Amino acid sequence: EAKDRGRARYVVFDGALRGALELRQQVEADLRRGIDRGELRLLYQPVVDVQSGEMTGVEALVRWQHPTRGLLAPDEFIPVAEDTGLVVPVGSWVLHEACRQLQDWQRKSDLALTVAVNVSARQLSDSRFPEAVGDILQATGADPAALCLELTETALLDATDATTATLQALRRLGVRLALDDFGTGFSSLTFLKRFPIDVVKVDRSFVRDIAVDPDDAAIVAAVINLGRSLNLETVAEGVETPEQLRCIRRLGCHLAQGYLFSPPRPPEDIPALLNALEPAGIRDGMDTAA
Ligand code: C2E
Ligand code: MG
Ligand code: MG
Ligand code: MG
Repeated sequence: EAKDRGRARYVVFDGALRGALELRQQVEADLRRGIDRGELRLLYQPVVDVQSGEMTGVEALVRWQHPTRGLLAPDEFIPVAEDTGLVVPVGSWVLHEACRQLQDWQRKSDLALTVAVNVSARQLSDSRFPEAVGDILQATGADPAALCLELTETALLDATDATTATLQALRRLGVRLALDDFGTGFSSLTFLKRFPIDVVKVDRSFVRDIAVDPDDAAIVAAVINLGRSLNLETVAEGVETPEQLRCIRRLGCHLAQGYLFSPPRPPEDIPALLNALEPAGIRDGMDTAA
């Protein structure tokens, strides 16, 4: 009887697994079509100078405007895209569109912003990636110095010497490199030593309880100090409250992004935000001296 139950459970599991596989294949086929049909969109989240409250740049965040499922967040399709290699065409589109938009803001509104773009492991493992980035910069006329490529520790986890060469080639183009979600991986410090990084982004899981949990406050303080002493720019992710802003400001963090300032927004909203970024929220976090 126990054996029967075991078998029954196995059958259920098998069915669930097959379901998951089918779903994955469905998403893959769907996404392949979606890319061709121009269903991808970029939203832009402001990045703000912690001291002055001014928007200095934006991070481009991909969405998929699915014909029946609505607007999909990256966690609903980027993992499948990673597994299937579709993240390479998705990533090229994102990079091209972000650079086109950057140049458009510069040209039409004289906005001097930086644009951060997320890059996945699959893109990075292709030795022709720097050349592709160079082509996109040239085709769009975007300023390389205004482009920052964000890499995660997991993307660098099985990095080889070839990866280091790729990162150096990207640096030679004049683009900057950020380590995203800093602190969530296993060997953050090794990565900082090994790779030519310009910016560290403190993961929002550490920022969340910074005002109430002394351990998290200590971790964020250590990361910001480390970044500063290595001459890296520091960015705090996921800043939602004036208290969190006050904490990172006191710790000397350079930049911040989060719902306190603005959620990710469509590109046409960005120019108007330059001098009008939820001023109350910013002032709230800023007026109290340490
Ligand atoms: P990320 O690069 O760490 O991006 C920050 C994520 O945090 C975004 O989620 C953003 O909407 C969210 N966020 C920003 N401020 C706050 C806040 O105050 N509170 C909270 N709770 N969340 C906040 P999103 O847009 O869903 O993106 C999730 C992840 O998907 C990104 O994390 C990035 O790793 C990946 N991703 C996004 N766009 C791309 C892309 O074009 N290519 C690749 N390969 N990955 C991407
Ligand atoms: Mg990012
Ligand atoms: Mg991040
Ligand atoms: Mg993060």
